[in-house]
Order: sequence, then C-alpha cells, then structure tokens
Amino acid sequence: MTTNPNDRFETIAVHAGVEPDPTTGAIMTPIYQTSTFAQTGINEHKGYDYSRAGNPTRTALENALATLEGARFGLSFSSGLAAIDTVMRLVKPGEAVLCGNDVYGGTFRLFDKVLADYGLRFTFVDTSDTAAVLAALEATPVRMVWLETPTNPMLRLADIATISAAAHAAGAWVAVDNTFASPALQRPLALGADFVIHSTTKYLGGHSDVIGGAIVTNDEASHERLKFLQKAVGAVSAPMDCFLTLRGIKTLGLRMRAHCDNGMAVAQFLEDHQAVEQVFYPGLESHPQYELARRQMDGPGGMVSFTLRGGPDVARDVALRTRLFTLAESLGGVESLIEIPAAMTHASVAGPEAQAAGFEVDASLIRLSVGIEHPTDLIADLKQALAG
Ligand SMILES: *Cc1c(COP(=O)(O)O)cnc(C)c1O
Repeated sequence: MTTNPNDRFETIAVHAGVEPDPTTGAIMTPIYQTSTFAQTGINEHKGYDYSRAGNPTRTALENALATLEGARFGLSFSSGLAAIDTVMRLVKPGEAVLCGNDVYGGTFRLFDKVLADYGLRFTFVDTSDTAAVLAALEATPVRMVWLETPTNPMLRLADIATISAAAHAAGAWVAVDNTFASPALQRPLALGADFVIHSTTKYLGGHSDVIGGAIVTNDEASHERLKFLQKAVGAVSAPMDCFLTLRGIKTLGLRMRAHCDNGMAVAQFLEDHQAVEQVFYPGLESHPQYELARRQMDGPGGMVSFTLRGGPDVARDVALRTRLFTLAESLGGVESLIEIPAAMTHASVAGPEAQAAGFEVDASLIRLSVGIEHPTDLIADLKQALAG
C-alpha cells in the first residue's frame, strides 16, 4: 500500500494516501460523515476531535495530494478559491504580490476585488516573459510571486525554475497554480516553487462532480500556519467531497494520458483547419514556449484554446453547434467541454481594472477542455461545428 520514491506516477496515483481502514480493513477510505468524535477523557481521543480541525477521510486525501506532488504536506479545502484565499493569508497588509496577467478570472477577482481591500498590493506582469518577471522582482520588494502555468485561457507557460531561483534571491515565495497540468504532468515543488495550489474540481477530481481545492508544500513552518488557518478560517472540504476526489485521483495517470493524446489530436486538427486563425496549445511546435513545455512538463495536457478568422459571432455559433463538446464552464472532467472565456469563465477580467493590469481575453477565443472520448468522434464533432 505504501508507495516508494521509484514508483511511476500511475502507481502512485492508485495508492497515494490510502491505507485499508484500520478498524474494518475496508480497501476504500470510508466517508467519515461525522462532525465530532467521542473522547475517552478530556482531550483524550484517537487524533480527531472535530471535523473542521480534522477528519479521517480528509486526512487520506491530504496525504494523497502531498504524495502526488512529491511534497511533505498537503491540505484540502472546500474549493480552489478557498485554497488560494488561505495561502494568500501568509502575505501581510502592505506586502506585495507579483501575479501573472493571464490567470484564472476568479483568481484575479479575489485578488483585485477582495484582498486588495485588505492592504495586499498586487502587480500584474506577463509571467511568460521571464525577463519582465525578473525586472519586476528587482524593482520592488515582493513577498509572493503567483504563477499559473499553463495559464487559463491562453495556455502560456512560466519558467518555474528560473523564476523561483530569482524570487528566492529576492526573498519572495513562489506559489504555482498547477490546476491545468495536474501533478501527472508537472511538479512545481521539484522545480523550486514553495507552494502548489490546485482547484481539485478539475483534473484531480476528474468527473465534474465535486468542488475542491488544495495547498501542498515542503515547508513545515508554512504548513503549520496554513493548517492553523484551515481550522481557524474554516473553508474545509466535506468527507463526501474528499472521498470523490480520492476516487478520481486513482485514475489521474490514465486520464491525463488520454487528455494529452486527445488534446494533441484536436490541436493538430484545428491548426490545419482553414476557418481557424490561431491555436494555443503547448504541444504544438508553433507554441512560442514549445521547448519550455517539453522541459518542464511531462505532456501538453487537455486544454486547447483557439481563435477563428470569422471573429466573435462565428465563435459563438461554433460553441453552440457542437454536439459532444458541451457548452459549459469548468474543465478537467472526462467529458469534453467548450466555452467562450470572454463571456463566461473570464467575464470578471473584462473590466477596466483588468485591462489596466494587462489582461486581454479575445472575444473570439474558444476554449476546449478535451475529454477522454474517442478522438475521431471529437474531431468529427468539431468539423461539423466549424462547417456551420
Ligand atoms: C477553476 C480554477 C480555479 C478556482 O477553483 P474552484 O475550485 O472553482 O474554486 C483556480 N485556478 C484555476 C486555474 C482554475 O481553473
């Protein structure tokens, strides 16, 4: 049951964090659907006293999350944004955060519309431009560098190793939102990052049936503070949600291979299609950071964005015409989804503040979350939708 450091990712994903239940031998971690735990004496218990502070199903998931990222410590939250909010509480009022200008719309909204009001100072920069990040680190003291790589929705990459080394020299932490790659394809802590954040809602859960988030780290002092915050602030994940995420994780290795194969097939099909203007996918040689993708990632993933020669109206028509690709927000599930980021997931980066920070989401951009259906069927569906 215990994994060892030489195991391959598929093996780790099946076994990480999960031991047969000590009381019954159940192979799957039970859903400990309880708010509290009996004590044999005052403060004498079996390691759990109240489920906000800790719950055995959550412990199994937290151990699994840490193991997947090759980390010592993992924490599970009720959503990806709850995890982001918690890790940002390590930054004090007056301190500065350097953040990518092509991050998930909800992350930008949390930073710009909530945390900025509590005195955190945000600077936004194109994190695919390493020189610009290094210059920003030199220009002003920074407490936290926030990287999303690949970014949502433009699939730009940040050079985690180079930026982490420079950030540490400047006394800053590096947090990487690893949602798009998942630990199957990218392990930022090994490249020097301090914190990895996930929306486990996406690839880790993998079945579009649960919302959750995670923070993993190797730094014990930060972990202790984050664990305290998890209990003190309270955005914990419920036992059933932990169970569903644990169940999803078992097939992560298998699913990511299918997502990569299908993503590549779809991206190549789109790149050759005369109605398509540009395809954004780190597995294509036309991607400006193709070499970095090969160095930093074990595969290009299942997210593909593209623009059409016909512009926004044509893009909307295409998104309404697909049959297998369901029009919906979110990503990372076994089923394929299609959406228009400017109007849907990234509507919150459409305003003047976002533009001032350098965000630009092309109104004609289409984002695909390519699922694990047969690639021939997915391509046929896109072909008919593009034909009109
Ligand atoms: C969805 C998403 C989030 C937010 O996660 P929730 O689980 O929806 O709160 C954060 N980062 C990225 C890259 C995402 O795609």
